[in-house]
Amino acid sequence: MSGSDSRHSVGNVATGFSYEEPLLFEHSRPGRVGADLPRLDVPEVDPGKVLGEAALRDDLATLPELSEIDVVRHFTRLSTWNASVDLGLYPLGSCTMKYNPKLNERVARLAGFGSAHPLQPPKLLQGFLHLAYQLERHLAEISGMDRVSLQPAAGAQGELAGIMMIRAYFQHRGESRSRILVPDSAHGTNPASAALNGYEVISVPSGDDGILHPEAIEAAMTPDVAALMITNPNTLGLFESHVPRIAEIVHAQGGLVYGDGANLNPLMGIARPGDLGTDVMHFNLHKTFSTPHGGGGPGSGPVGVKNILVPFLPTPVITRRNGGVEAEYDLDYEFPHSIGRLHAHYGNVGMMIRAYAYLRSLGPDGLRRCAEMAVLNANYLLSRLRGAYHVPYDRPVMHECVLSDHHLAQTGVTTLDIAKRLIDYGYHPPTIYFPLIVHGALMIEPTESESLEGLDRFADALLAIDREAREQPELVQSAPHHTRRSRLDETRAARNPVLRWWPEGD
Ligand SMILES: *Cc1c(COP(=O)(O)O)cnc(C)c1O
Repeated sequence: MSGSDSRHSVGNVATGFSYEEPLLFEHSRPGRVGADLPRLDVPEVDPGKVLGEAALRDDLATLPELSEIDVVRHFTRLSTWNASVDLGLYPLGSCTMKYNPKLNERVARLAGFGSAHPLQPPKLLQGFLHLAYQLERHLAEISGMDRVSLQPAAGAQGELAGIMMIRAYFQHRGESRSRILVPDSAHGTNPASAALNGYEVISVPSGDDGILHPEAIEAAMTPDVAALMITNPNTLGLFESHVPRIAEIVHAQGGLVYGDGANLNPLMGIARPGDLGTDVMHFNLHKTFSTPHGGGGPGSGPVGVKNILVPFLPTPVITRRNGGVEAEYDLDYEFPHSIGRLHAHYGNVGMMIRAYAYLRSLGPDGLRRCAEMAVLNANYLLSRLRGAYHVPYDRPVMHECVLSDHHLAQTGVTTLDIAKRLIDYGYHPPTIYFPLIVHGALMIEPTESESLEGLDRFADALLAIDREAREQPELVQSAPHHTRRSRLDETRAARNPVLRWWPEGD
């Protein structure tokens, strides 16, 4: 690391146009300001008198003091450090990092949406409520659900809402069920949502072919089971073809089926979870419906339900009176069995507007085409990589494929090394070491956005890395070589975080 440290010491220039960037606090110089306010032209008041002495702080906040250009350059430089969908293929499996059309941004920024206030009464938010209601109807149509709530702020919160509704449903029926079945290939949020609702999580093994079989559910299903949580296609990218039969088995014992809709992308316009027996599911607008994500948010994870769960929906529920141009929208709080409110105001509204623009600009045929292209792209990549990389479940896939480092055991090169080396080739690494049932998993989801040439370039990079791993394993094991920082000690970062405050030493 001495290389990058010495760069740091010469200021913020590293090499050429590649900048090392200090913290804003380190840029700070006493007295520097970024705002230019006119002279006060009203009588000065004593803030203690207006606010009360108790409301005043004793010392000044130690905020960085910066000029406007300091701030602009700081953030502009940092922005050049980002990998993003707009920069290149972003193969993060399970996350569906598809391209977000700029049209969606234009629409979300229209003044009527952009300057609306969340506390405006429904009467003054008719345009937005119309959009939200329509979006709910579109999601219901795509998924085969009866009603949708847009409140949850992420897939994980949609799951939480779904399992809360399942719990409320059984409570209302006077049934006490204590278990939830979760396949061993599930995303970690599934068992977490079940456990947060007080359920015991029962792990169900996938078959040798990577999917769930009716026999496994038959063996695990008892009258004590509230629900099965199932992801289709699953996290191996495989279509769960036994879902209708599995749902019958769960329903026969009075249980419900929760659908994790994070992988809805390859099903849109082709198959509907609701038709396959799912009773409640979440959507990830920030995956399937092209709203930007990464860096921790914002997200949007609407939850859809069949009629039996409608009484338990989060409130308020958007309702529509009259039809056609006379339609009027309002918020309904009169849901006595509701699980309550999950998000302040209306949820992450910007994401809803982007998703709506995406749906309306593609239309039903366009959505189906997206799904088909996502499947074609994933299978094309798999076919190019199959000979070189180990494929643990080698079957046609839906939207993503899972490879592993099994074939490189002799070389000592691991999945982590391959992921790091991809950075040198200009790619964000794929999801690694997930799903947990594949040792050393590399989970690759190209999405429908990529062209044939783009897929070929990415496959060529992975094939080149595979050759390097055999011929010069150290080169791969010490990657990345073309970044400002190479490998960080991830354990130390977690155990021994450097939480500096400014000014240093305070
Ligand atoms: C992303 C994902 C989730 C969780 O969604 P968030 O929006 O990240 O909370 C759940 N299940 C699967 C399969 C996912 O890929």
